[in-house]
Amino acid sequence: MKNNNTVCAISTAQGEGGIGVIRVSGEKSIEICDSIFKSISGKPLSNLKGYTAALGYVYKNGEKLDEVIATVFHEPHSYTGENVVELSCHGGLFITSEVLRTVIEAGAKPAEAGEFTKRAFLNGKLDLTEAEAVIDIISAKSKAAARAALLAKEGALWRKTEKIKNSLVNTAAHLSAWVDYPEEDIEEVTEESLKTTFKECMFELDKLLKTYDMGQTVKEGLDTVIAGKPNTGKSTIMNLLSGHDRSIVTDIPGTTRDIIEETVNVGNVTLRLSDTAGMRETEDTVEKIGVDIAKSRIENCGLVMAVFDSGRELDEDDKKLLEIIKDAPTIAVINKTDLENKLNEKYIEDRIETTVRISAKTEEGVENLVSEIEKIAGCDNFNPSEGILANERQRNAILNAKKSLQEAIDALNLGMTFDAVTVTLEDAIENILELTGERVSEVVVDNVFHNFCVGK
Ligand code: GDP
Repeated sequence: MKNNNTVCAISTAQGEGGIGVIRVSGEKSIEICDSIFKSISGKPLSNLKGYTAALGYVYKNGEKLDEVIATVFHEPHSYTGENVVELSCHGGLFITSEVLRTVIEAGAKPAEAGEFTKRAFLNGKLDLTEAEAVIDIISAKSKAAARAALLAKEGALWRKTEKIKNSLVNTAAHLSAWVDYPEEDIEEVTEESLKTTFKECMFELDKLLKTYDMGQTVKEGLDTVIAGKPNTGKSTIMNLLSGHDRSIVTDIPGTTRDIIEETVNVGNVTLRLSDTAGMRETEDTVEKIGVDIAKSRIENCGLVMAVFDSGRELDEDDKKLLEIIKDAPTIAVINKTDLENKLNEKYIEDRIETTVRISAKTEEGVENLVSEIEKIAGCDNFNPSEGILANERQRNAILNAKKSLQEAIDALNLGMTFDAVTVTLEDAIENILELTGERVSEVVVDNVFHNFCVGK
């Protein structure tokens, strides 16, 4: 599947910046760049060792286009595993496009979306889960998501599945040797030993499946509603929880200033407070927003933080809120515990399983609140070094592998021949190979890289 075309793309974000990088990858990348780049020292790029750089100019039609630093990588020691030149020019839309165009005119083809990473995969630099992690690193919005993606890129999931795969491959090899060469002195394969191996592998696959939701929460964030009367301390709590790790995404600049999403990173969890502008205005009291709207928002979210004021008596608004949230994943936050207590806390505790007492002012109880949020999000045991399923494709492969192993166990229980067991065992192995991309159809590979943008 090795691709001999030389391709190029702007690999930095489109816009104005200090530098912009045009990446050129393929057999002829150094030769092509030598035809448009002249170094100050006069040394051609083909004379440079790998991982070295030269300062010079890119020329177009005999004229200087820009001052550029060219970095050379020799195959296989590059991101793609091919010869690569990275031209770092000044970061402007015009300059980067012009340098790109010059490289194309000199013989390179424009790269497709994700083509550099796809080449890295096809050249064996990355397995498919590691390649998918690249896109997750780029799109990570929190420290936890970035850490999980980096560990995946370093092979956390690959290592985990490799262990399971090896165990199944060894069992399959042993099984077929025992069945096919009865005259040889091969250790007997028993039904019990097969079942034990299958069950152990299913247990490990199950553990991985359980990481999926956690991975999604870490990646995508948890849809959160923060509810409570005005002045209970909702904003103060969010500011406190986020430290500086808070981002506000506004609608397209210039058209409207509506906040469409606000994210707050709390421990390992990203809380996504959508449509905050609307919520602030209308959701302060259950009365104003209308019970139905409040209900549907609360039904569809992953977490409700219902804030109560310890310094005030429980009133009808509080009681209505408690009624609406009773079946939702809720944390009742009793705030302002530094004040003299006037709140009927027992009324709340009798209705909401998780109640946390804090003072956003003195910061007492905040750690407790963070750990309860992590618990509700399922991220209290977040350990990405053990491998995490990062997307639906990976989850399906593992689900299918587990299903095949269950069929193998069923076949044994029904007293079917070892040949029948071998077929389902091979199916399970096949599914794991599909996960890592060791045996995967071109359609699946194309689909994976379809999600990338050009230049990655
Ligand atoms: P919101 O309307 O629910 O967002 O409430 P704010 O966060 O704006 O807080 C309302 C007022 O309560 C502000 O004056 C805060 O400084 C104050 N406040 C918030 N948390 C505490 C707390 O734990 N103790 C005390 N004493 N005051 C607090």
